[in-house]
Amino acid sequence: MTKAEVTRFAPSPTGWLHLGHAYAALFAHEQAAGGRFLIRLEDIDGTRARAEYEAAIFEDLAWLGLEWEQPVRKQSEHFEDYRVALTKLEGLGVLYPCFCTRREIQEEIARAGNAPQGPDGPLYPGTCRSRSAEERAQRMAAGEQYALRLDVAKAMGLVNEDLEWTDRGRGVFQAQPGVFGDVVLARKDTPASYHLAVVVDDALQGITLVTRGEDLLEATHLHRLLQALLGLPVPEWRHHGLIVDENGKRLAKRDDARSLRSLRAEGWTPEQVRNMIKIQIDHVKLP
Ligand code: GLU
Repeated sequence: MTKAEVTRFAPSPTGWLHLGHAYAALFAHEQAAGGRFLIRLEDIDGTRARAEYEAAIFEDLAWLGLEWEQPVRKQSEHFEDYRVALTKLEGLGVLYPCFCTRREIQEEIARAGNAPQGPDGPLYPGTCRSRSAEERAQRMAAGEQYALRLDVAKAMGLVNEDLEWTDRGRGVFQAQPGVFGDVVLARKDTPASYHLAVVVDDALQGITLVTRGEDLLEATHLHRLLQALLGLPVPEWRHHGLIVDENGKRLAKRDDARSLRSLRAEGWTPEQVRNMIKIQIDHVKLP
């Protein structure tokens, strides 16, 4: 017997779900292929997550005809899990405190000129990477704000194996965890970044196939490194195409006209939503 697939749909309750989310949810459900389909609320950003959006997610997904397992994992209830992972990374010596403000980083990047670019913009120039243990301790003791960054080069040095990962639609990738540079993994007000929380959660939830939009494909390089460092099981991935609007721009949450609830209010049926997704997805590159 082959192992039952476990997939998940992981929305952030920071806005109404739109056609793009409907597609992602239906895709994850379909890929579970009779196995387990889970939902996870990515509500770590307490300043943007709202209870009414959370309730709407369940309402919209049920309206679409989806069923999922209970209980739903809410990231904001599991900060302890992320702290344990951070402590492990700290123990490996691959984290360092970064005291730079956004502005200082921008200035440093401008000064250096020609800064290497990552998927989210210019990479962090590494200003705080080589500060002495003494200086770090002193500044932390003085109450200076800091974020914890991953020293990617050092982390890669610790991982002996050749890191590979598989996208079921695209094949095997050689991991390039450096694409985001020394990413922030935690801040005072956000005890785990998306990257850290997602690998911890996928492991704890026993996800075997991570399905998500191709806009997150590059993040998988970094996630693969974090899994190796934390000794987590490695799932497979399938990155899907994105639904776009008339101008070819990917849908954003502020594009309220296309929210599932506004379509429903206009009298659309779940079948019409499914059909619309089929038509739209023909226009985007599917693996
Ligand atoms: N919460 C992410 C989003 O809304 C999904 C992350 C993931 O599936 O890994 O785009």
